[in-house]
Amino acid sequence: MKRYRLLVSLLAVSALAGTVSAQNPQPRRPVGLPPASTVVIRAGHVIDVASGRAVPNQSILVQEGKIAAIGDRVVAPDGTPVIDLSGSYVMPGLMDAHTHLAMTTMPGASINDFGSYYYTGLIETTAFRAIQGVVHAQSMLDAGFVWIKDIGNNALYADVELRRGVEGGWIPGPNIIATGRIIAPFGGQFQMQPEKPDLGNPEYYYADSPDEVRKAVRENIHYGAGAIKLVTDNQPYNYSIDEIRAAVEEAGDVGFTVAAHAYSDEAIRKAVLAGVASIEHGNNPTDETLRLMAEKGTYLVGTDFPASQSGQAAWERIVARNRRALAAGTPMAFGSDVVYSRPGWTRGELTLEFLESFTAAGFPNDLILRMLTMNNGELLRVNSGQVKVGFNADLVAMDANPLDDVHALNDIHFVMKDGRVYKQDGEFRWEMPRDPNNPRRKPARVAR
Ligand SMILES: [Zn+2]
Repeated sequence: MKRYRLLVSLLAVSALAGTVSAQNPQPRRPVGLPPASTVVIRAGHVIDVASGRAVPNQSILVQEGKIAAIGDRVVAPDGTPVIDLSGSYVMPGLMDAHTHLAMTTMPGASINDFGSYYYTGLIETTAFRAIQGVVHAQSMLDAGFVWIKDIGNNALYADVELRRGVEGGWIPGPNIIATGRIIAPFGGQFQMQPEKPDLGNPEYYYADSPDEVRKAVRENIHYGAGAIKLVTDNQPYNYSIDEIRAAVEEAGDVGFTVAAHAYSDEAIRKAVLAGVASIEHGNNPTDETLRLMAEKGTYLVGTDFPASQSGQAAWERIVARNRRALAAGTPMAFGSDVVYSRPGWTRGELTLEFLESFTAAGFPNDLILRMLTMNNGELLRVNSGQVKVGFNADLVAMDANPLDDVHALNDIHFVMKDGRVYKQDGEFRWEMPRDPNNPRRKPARVAR
């Protein structure tokens, strides 16, 4: 009896790890994750995002959640199941480096009013925001997003719990890098009143010296963050280079990176010189600062709200900023920052609307695809973002060529993540979890 139990649990583990071959009978899976089998994908075209080319008639062999072979003459074991995407364009799954799954602002709140974040933080419970996050996570995967960085404003670690839910097979969603609580100078992004200074918590972790920043980073990592988010410049007192560097060093010790929310040129410069991996928003850099980012390899994650959300004047400034960043050679990665809802739209659909500022700035389509895939793969330090041997089998497919028009991404009808199919023929697939387990609470690991 004992032996039998051990065998069953070994089979369960191998199913989770995706090592079950197509020939063997499928064991009962422990949780809701779809099976990761050996499959061959017949692709009409594969988008090589690095070169910006659509390569015709390719086959992709997927084994153990990874791309094992690709080419026009891939040899697969006899009887390997085939997924026919011969009428489609296949490309790497999308990534969003700046999203807030567990934040949905109150209806009617202006996006330019920081009160909207404030009131949501005050009124909504972490539990309800996590429930909203479950829905948003599924919608992101449905839209083609296979990795996201959840970048704060997640109440008290709802992002970490969402990650555990996805990894444990409780809920479908993209792979998640959580950042925990946003570390910021006193007050964070809110205006406190002295009788109730704690109203900004738990959204922000106030830290006002290099030592306090180090402690805040360690606490975040302890509770499950896989990257660190700083807000550097929403108060009259901004983070110094030393304070930001303390975060970069402390996070770097465990292989994690720091993302710095910075609006002003001065704040952006300080964060770049302190060694952050990315500038979030980065609304007002000078050309000189954009060139400094190019020199240092610091990513700009623009989070450019569409014109309908930002207003015309702000929109024109941001499109012009994108043109200047392109001219300066600044590395750029896609990040949305959707925190609002709109009737009739899913969070995933709203996220893709954030491509507008790049098409309006005249970015080449292949660059936009790189920002959504391989550039984010590098920024997030994950083994995803290219259709290449050894990379995770994170793939999406659509009927039209996104190199001709990136709006083809609005019609993704196939989604594979880690070798598991979540969407096929436009239908989202998810089984109710059976024998669910509770993944142990532990700090995140670097994915690569
Ligand atoms: Zn944000």
